[in-house]
Amino acid sequence: MSAPQFTVNPHPAPASPQRRAEVLADPGFGRHMTDHMVTVRYTEGTGWHDPQVVPYGPLTLDPSSMVLHYGQEIFEGLKAYRQPDGSIASFRPDANARRFAGSARRLAMAELPEELFLESLSALLAVDSEWVPAAGGEDSLYLRPFMIATEVGLGVRPSSEYLYAVLASPAGPYFTGGVKPMNVWLETEFTRAALGGTGTAKCGGNYAASLLPQAIGAKHGCAQVAYLDAEERTWIDEMGSNNLFFVFQGEDGSVELATPDLRGSVLAGITRDSVIAIAKDLGITVVERRISGKEWLDGVADGRLTEVFGCGTAAVITPIGTVKHTGGEVTVGDGEPGPVTLQLREALTAIQRGAAPDPHGWMRTLVPAPASV
Ligand SMILES: *Cc1c(COP(=O)(O)O)cnc(C)c1O
Repeated sequence: MSAPQFTVNPHPAPASPQRRAEVLADPGFGRHMTDHMVTVRYTEGTGWHDPQVVPYGPLTLDPSSMVLHYGQEIFEGLKAYRQPDGSIASFRPDANARRFAGSARRLAMAELPEELFLESLSALLAVDSEWVPAAGGEDSLYLRPFMIATEVGLGVRPSSEYLYAVLASPAGPYFTGGVKPMNVWLETEFTRAALGGTGTAKCGGNYAASLLPQAIGAKHGCAQVAYLDAEERTWIDEMGSNNLFFVFQGEDGSVELATPDLRGSVLAGITRDSVIAIAKDLGITVVERRISGKEWLDGVADGRLTEVFGCGTAAVITPIGTVKHTGGEVTVGDGEPGPVTLQLREALTAIQRGAAPDPHGWMRTLVPAPASV
C-alpha cells in the first residue's frame, strides 16, 4: 500500500526555540502540546480522506455530534523516543495500530487502516521533531491518537462520520529522583469492566467509569485503583490504566512472575506483553493465570508474594508498595522497589531508548536520523 499523502499546513506562529526549551526542561505529563496535530476524516461511502497536519488548536463540533451523546470515542497512547543516532523511533506502534482497529470494531466505529495509523505518526513527527526530547534519558514525546463520532443527529446508531486525530505532548521521566512505590486501593464495590463489555477496548467510557473509584482511592492516599472481576468480585482484573504483575517466591528460592490472563475483561497492554517476553528472555518463569484479591493479601502476609508492579506506556513499570482496602492495608515486602521489578524496568527502558539490543524487533523508526554532514 502506498503511503497516504498528508497535507501540511504549518503553524503560522510556532513556539519559539526558547519556549520549547523551557517546556522540555520540565515537561511533566500531558501539560503541553506540540505546535501541530494530525486530522483525518472518515465518511461512509468515501472512506478515509483529507489526511492533514495542521496547527494545534480547537476543533469545531456541531453540538449534536454523536460522540457528545453516545460516547463513540477510542484512543491510543504511545511514545516516540530520540535514539542515540538522532533518529526518532517508537515502541511497537504496529501493536497500537492493531489495538486501535480492535477498539474501533468493539465500538462499531470505522477501522483506521494500520498503515494510515503509522503514517499519521510519522507525518506529525516530521513536522514537530524538535519537540522530541534528547536521547539518553527517560524523556519522550507522548503520542495520543484518538477517534470520535462526528455525524450530526440524535439517533442511536453507529455514526457514519469520524474524525481521527493525533496529538503530541512531551513527557518527562515519570519518577524524578528514583523509582518509588505507589499505594494502591483494592476496590471491592465498583468494577472497571465486565465480560462482554468494553474492558478490552481502549475507550474513553472505561475511563469515565473509573474516575469515581479513583477519587475514593485518592481519599485513602492511593495513586491507583486495582479492580476485581465484575462477576465474582474475586479475581484481580487490572488497574485503571495499568496491567498488574506479581512476583511469587517459592520455598526453594524459585521465582514466578504471574499476571492475570486475558480471558476476562483485561485490556491487553503492549507493555504487559513486552514484560512477559523480556522476563522469559531473562529466564524468569512467567504464568498468565487467575489471581485472587485474597491471594494478593495472603501472599503479602505469608511472605510468598515479594513484589507487585503495574505497567503501561505512560509510567512504564511502577512498583506497588502498600495495598489498602476496606478491611485494612498490607505492605508488599519492605515497601521498596523489588529486584525483579527494577530489572525488568531497566531492560525495557534500555530497549526503548536504544541503549540495548532489540532482539524482538520492537523499535520502529518514524523519522530517520538527520543526514550527517
Ligand atoms: C492503555 C491501558 C493499559 C496499558 O496498555 P499499554 O499498551 O501497555 O500502554 C492498561 N490498562 C488499561 C485499562 C489501559 O487503558
